[in-house]
Amino acid sequence: MGKIVLQSVLLNDTISDIVIDGNRFSEIVPSEQRKQYDNAELIDCSGLAILPAFYNAHTHAAMTLVRGYADDTPLFEWLNDYIWPFEAKLTAKDIEIGSRLAVLEMIKSGTVFFSDMYWHREATMKVVEEMGIRAAIGVTISDVLTSPKDLEDNFTFLKQHKGESERVKLVVMPHAIYTNTDECFKRSIAIAKEEKYVLHTHLSETSKEVNDCFLQYKCTPVELMEKWGALSSHFVAAHCVHFTEKDKKLFSQVGAVAVVNPCSNLKLGSGIPNIVSLLKNNIMVALGTDGASSNNNLDMREEMKMAGLLTKANDASVIVSKNDILKLATENGAKAYGIQNAGRIEEGWLADCILIRMDNERMVPCHDIVSNWIYGADSRAIDSVMCNGKFVMRNGHVDGEDDIVAEAVACVKRLM
Ligand SMILES: [Zn+2]
Repeated sequence: MGKIVLQSVLLNDTISDIVIDGNRFSEIVPSEQRKQYDNAELIDCSGLAILPAFYNAHTHAAMTLVRGYADDTPLFEWLNDYIWPFEAKLTAKDIEIGSRLAVLEMIKSGTVFFSDMYWHREATMKVVEEMGIRAAIGVTISDVLTSPKDLEDNFTFLKQHKGESERVKLVVMPHAIYTNTDECFKRSIAIAKEEKYVLHTHLSETSKEVNDCFLQYKCTPVELMEKWGALSSHFVAAHCVHFTEKDKKLFSQVGAVAVVNPCSNLKLGSGIPNIVSLLKNNIMVALGTDGASSNNNLDMREEMKMAGLLTKANDASVIVSKNDILKLATENGAKAYGIQNAGRIEEGWLADCILIRMDNERMVPCHDIVSNWIYGADSRAIDSVMCNGKFVMRNGHVDGEDDIVAEAVACVKRLM
């Protein structure tokens, strides 16, 4: 693969030439000191700025198919009466179609990685490989929601490390403590340790979950995880809305990761994650959209703005800077899943990025590009998206996008 040079692109405050060699940024020089490169593809990026792409640390991709299906219901009613009955009808092909719609939406809103907890994982893996982005694909574990045979297949799949590649990783994902027996959850923890996988689960999302945990185990869900030996720097929890001070200490001590999903939590009435307090406890915090069923989109820029605003509601006396908010949505999401040197535009780092049109009306004027990007703009400002050194969107266009949308429309019509 030859080199690519992004010429005359705005990086921070400097017009620069950025060389991409293979899947990494290999050289960054101010454009006024332009060098010549043999056999390189030169791309004129005048009028464009470069920013890190997003890493969505918790979602359920194919739930795009239930976007707007059951609004205005609290979590447990929403799951029991609407989502689980609908999901029971989904085939692997439906999930492939839903995942493709999700990946299209993610690319168009600047996301190049997602952590996915869902069913028929091979259908989603296929889509990720085809569409050129990255994913941590969950082997979703629940002995309450799946048959004994499917459960055993999941553990076999994990033992074999099936389908892992340069851009696709597997992750052990017990759905939640309330959808697994103790035995099954503990088995998930054990296989994650044996096979060196990240362990990811929904944790302390609602006060009901925490209260039920107290009734059954006389401790919080985080304390239960500690008791069962799950907590480590390879433990990534989604939601983390109802953490006690002790829960935060337990996370901080071992370097466990808290993924916050504020839009989904607000929409389902689950509560407000205290991002400021998590950060004050030196917990690594990443950001996720959750599924489009409870968000109702997969737009990480919107999630980032929500997170930024909520920090002011959490504790107005503590300033969480815009650069810190950007980090939650970029670098931290990659790091949470063991993707090293990703989420910054720096020499030697993975060539994942977005190119922003500086003439988009919401990018004007530009006193501060990060501020505009978090609080002012929307996805329409994105011109191009690159993952692993290759464009997955160019000049606002993703290959096959019209067909992806048409297929999703037909699929939902059939399912309903
Ligand atoms: Zn979720």
